[in-house]
Amino acid sequence: MDDCLFCKIAAGELGGPLIYEDEQVVAFDDISPQAPVHVLIIPRAHYTNLNDEPPAELLSHILQVARKIAQMRGIDQSGYRVVQNNGPDAGQTVFHLHFHVIGGRTLAVGMA
Ligand code: AMP
Ligand code: ZN
Repeated sequence: MDDCLFCKIAAGELGGPLIYEDEQVVAFDDISPQAPVHVLIIPRAHYTNLNDEPPAELLSHILQVARKIAQMRGIDQSGYRVVQNNGPDAGQTVFHLHFHVIGGRTLAVGMA
């Protein structure tokens, strides 16, 4: 999609190094990390968020990649959180579907 920051990152036109990529997704460090590990996983294809009905196979794949990234960063046993925000009330600021993988310290408990 034109003028989508994350489409440009997925295409390799912007952003820093990718820490993971395959045919369906890419992953990279968040520019404003909220914890020692803060990685974003995005599909190469543009979906605004879950409301665009990304296929279940893609969503399943993203969770598998989240686990791999936690292993790569050495936080799979200590613990990590996978977060995905939909729309303004949820705090979504970039409107290309993305999953945060956050860890490397004890995270605050709570959903809100
Ligand atoms: P959300 O608030 O769920 O929409 O998350 C968007 C995330 O994208 C935030 O954590 C931002 O820090 C991150 N972000 C924005 N621009 C960039 C960028 N150019 N490279 C990496 N992360 C970014
Ligand atoms: Zn996009």
